[in-house]
Amino acid sequence: MDLGLKDKPVVVTGGSSGIGLATARLLLEEGAQVAICARGAERLDKVAADFADTFGVDRVFAQAVDVLQEEQVNGFARAVEDRFGGAVALINNAGQGRVSTFAETTDEAWREELELKYFSQIRPIRAFQNMLAASGSGAIVATNSLLALQPEPHMVCTSSARAGIQNLLKSLARELAPAIRVNSILVGLIDSNQWQRRFEARDDKNQTREAWYADLAKNKNIPMGRLGKPEEAARLLAFLASPAASFITGAQVEISGGISRFI
Ligand code: NDP
Repeated sequence: MDLGLKDKPVVVTGGSSGIGLATARLLLEEGAQVAICARGAERLDKVAADFADTFGVDRVFAQAVDVLQEEQVNGFARAVEDRFGGAVALINNAGQGRVSTFAETTDEAWREELELKYFSQIRPIRAFQNMLAASGSGAIVATNSLLALQPEPHMVCTSSARAGIQNLLKSLARELAPAIRVNSILVGLIDSNQWQRRFEARDDKNQTREAWYADLAKNKNIPMGRLGKPEEAARLLAFLASPAASFITGAQVEISGGISRFI
């Protein structure tokens, strides 16, 4: 199947690691031009240099941006327009989860989490909306979490914020149609930097990576018996962002190895 992304500019937030990194690489393999951002310039620049070596410097753009900072996001959008002349798709992927129960979550933590989840969508969407609409095949895809539909008590405020985002994306799918399609993926557990950090902080430092991940999959009752790979989420994000998904909007696609318990 041809995704129809050859020579088309696509923006991936949080493109320096995990799901975003795998998505940027896949899009480049598909022939797209790719703009990535993340806060940490060092890691981002290294990724951009690797991509430029493999795919050509003309097809890669990277800028250090905190997606919560309006001026930085707007500056990134202007730079992408200068570099690629616009954008056909925006993959809003930047972020991380917060582990805390209701009892542990302070007001400040609630505000931080709600700001991260909402404004990591709102700011890039506002900044890129006109470009996406002008492209003729505009698409927004959000990396959201299965927690939106299946909350977990140890991630109470992330779950709640994720549910709110799903609601917002559904509204946007109507408001921005037909110029821009808006979809999301609902991620279960994907082996990314977030999980690597938790593995490194494990209690039993003698436990191997393989054993720690196997235990995690077992404890989480993942029917497929393992965590997902960033490349598996990337394929779904790239498809939804592409003209190959031209009649799909307002959809949420689960990628969890079967972990959900609802129909
Ligand atoms: P990683 O930690 O591997 O990657 C996160 C990326 O986002 C990095 O590039 C990071 O770079 C960037 N980032 C984080 N905060 C910001 C910010 N404020 N502004 C700009 N960039 C930012 O994690 P994943 O690949 O797992 O995460 C991708 C998305 O998937 C996240 O939104 C996460 O919450 C979601 N998700 C992941 C799950 C999983 O199991 N992996 C489960 C459910 C949802 P830097 O730190 O340098 O800014």
